[in-house]
Amino acid sequence: MRKNIVAGNWKMNKNFADAEALMIQLLEYKKNNTTNCEVYIAPPALYLTTAKDIFKNGEVEVFAQDVSEYQSGAYTGEISVEMINSIGIDGSLVSHSERRQYHGETDSHANRKVKALLDAGLTPIYCNGETLEQRKAGQHFEVVKNQTEVALFTLSADEIKKVVIAYEPVWAIGTGETATPEQAQEIHAHIRSLIAAKYGQEVADEISILYGGSVKPDNAKEIFSQPDIDGGLIGGAALKIEDFSKIIEGFNP
Ligand code: PEP
Repeated sequence: MRKNIVAGNWKMNKNFADAEALMIQLLEYKKNNTTNCEVYIAPPALYLTTAKDIFKNGEVEVFAQDVSEYQSGAYTGEISVEMINSIGIDGSLVSHSERRQYHGETDSHANRKVKALLDAGLTPIYCNGETLEQRKAGQHFEVVKNQTEVALFTLSADEIKKVVIAYEPVWAIGTGETATPEQAQEIHAHIRSLIAAKYGQEVADEISILYGGSVKPDNAKEIFSQPDIDGGLIGGAALKIEDFSKIIEGFNP
C-alpha cells in the first residue's frame, strides 16, 4: 500500500549552524518517537551532504529542492541527478510552484526532470496546483489535469508508481490560507482518478499524493485524515522542530 509521508521543504532558509541544529533536533525526535509516516526533508543544496551524514541510518530521507533536467555540462548554477545520487540523496522536489513562478518552469521541464530522477533510481516529488485566478475561474480541476498529464503521463506504469505527487494550490503556499480538507480531498481524488483512468486503479492506489499549502500543527490531523491525502509537503512549519514534529504526529491515532 502507499506510504504516508511528511516532507519538509526548507526553501532558502537557515545558515549552516541553524540548519545543522535543526537536523540534529529532528534526529533526536526520530530516535525518541515512533512515527506513523515516513519523514523527508529538502534542505538547501549546500547542506545535503551534512543531512545525509546526520541521517546516516535512513531515519529521515533527504531530498534536493530542484535538479537539472540535463546530465552534465555548461549549466552554471545547476545540480545534476548524478551529483545528488553520488552523495546518496534519495530524490528531489520537481517543479515546486516557486520554481514555476520565478524560474519559468513548466510541466515539460517537470516531465524531463521526473524521468531523469527515475532513470537514476531516485524519487521525484512532483508538485502541481492551480493559482488563485484559476481557482476563482473554476478551472482548478482542468489545470491540475493538464499539469499531471504533461508531467507524468509519458511514464510507464512501473515508473509512475515511484513518483510522489504534491498537490499545492499556489494560493495556499506561504499565505496562511489553507485549502479546506474537503477542497484538498476533491483534487486529490481527481488526480488519483486521472491516474486510474490511464494506468488502472491498482497503480493509482499505490501513489502517495501529498497536500501542501500552509499545513500547520493545528490543521494537519484533519487534512491527513482525508482518504486520498497521504501526507503533506510542509514549508514554513518545517523550520521549527516543535511545529514539524506536531505535524508528523498528525498521523498518530
Ligand atoms: C511549500 O513550500 O511547499 C509549502 C507548502 O509552503 P507552506 O507550508 O509555507 O505554505
